[in-house]
Amino acid sequence: MHTKKNKLLLATNNSGKLKEMSVLLRNSKLEITTPMEQGIHLEVQESGKTFRDNAILKAEAFSSVSGLMSLSDDSGLEVDILNGEPGVMSARYAGPNASDKDRIDYLLEKLRGVPFDRRKARFRCVMAVAAPGGKVEIFEGVCEGIISEEPKGPGGFGYDPIFYIPSLEVSMAQLSMESKNDISHRGIASRKVRDYLASIV
Ligand code: IMP
Repeated sequence: MHTKKNKLLLATNNSGKLKEMSVLLRNSKLEITTPMEQGIHLEVQESGKTFRDNAILKAEAFSSVSGLMSLSDDSGLEVDILNGEPGVMSARYAGPNASDKDRIDYLLEKLRGVPFDRRKARFRCVMAVAAPGGKVEIFEGVCEGIISEEPKGPGGFGYDPIFYIPSLEVSMAQLSMESKNDISHRGIASRKVRDYLASIV
């Protein structure tokens, strides 16, 4: 029987993140649970200026509503030639009701005519683990790539189809979830979280 003490709530409503985080943490000793399973409907205003600020806001909000240890992920894409845009605005780039496709089109339009060697970008993921008592721990992962000129691949979510990984010669959306998790910003941060959780449970 699991009690409140050994559950970990994934503090996100993003289905792409939920899938990846569940796989990444599946061998954890904690029982992984989601807002939907807990009957929690919470939209946290991402008012922070950094991924770290937003990750803390989300983990603390879900932990205080649920009484459970909560793990948040704030992540996004940083494009060098756009001075780090879209950054913390990654989910809201191209407006509030835009789709993943709209955001990709918007970004490609901004980069129209920019040559391959000046399209460097990275995905960054900051994860926060908030305990009900108020303690918060932070973990980070980064994955480097190039923004391609057109989308490729059916997998992943968000900007994956235009995120080209030179060492593998494929887009992030052409990788299986397992292969994405091996190299992704979220995979790197999650393994740090997993090691931390193993040290406290
Ligand atoms: P937030 O962390 O909920 O503010 O949203 C992050 C946004 O960044 C997502 O909605 C995606 O647009 C983008 N993003 C974060 N991680 C990934 C990823 O692994 N692949 C593609 N896009 C991502």
